[in-house]
Amino acid sequence: MWRVAVGPACIGSASCVALSPALFALGEDKRSHPVRAEIEPDGAALDAAFACPVEAITVTDQETGRVVSE
Ligand code: SF4
Repeated sequence: MWRVAVGPACIGSASCVALSPALFALGEDKRSHPVRAEIEPDGAALDAAFACPVEAITVTDQETGRVVSE
């Protein structure tokens, strides 16, 4: 499983939501939040992480602890 997190750097550009609406949603705080913190490995999570203008999204392989979104 992968763990998806959005850090405080998020500026609410919504690029991740547009690219991967099944994985990210804007909250009332106008920042993105993962729809689910744990997901099956999914390239859409990486697409969103790479598209984020402030690199706020981190995707981590829970088994190895490796950050896969770098
Ligand atoms: S793309 Fe990055 S800055 Fe934009 S809403 Fe998503 S996490 Fe926030």
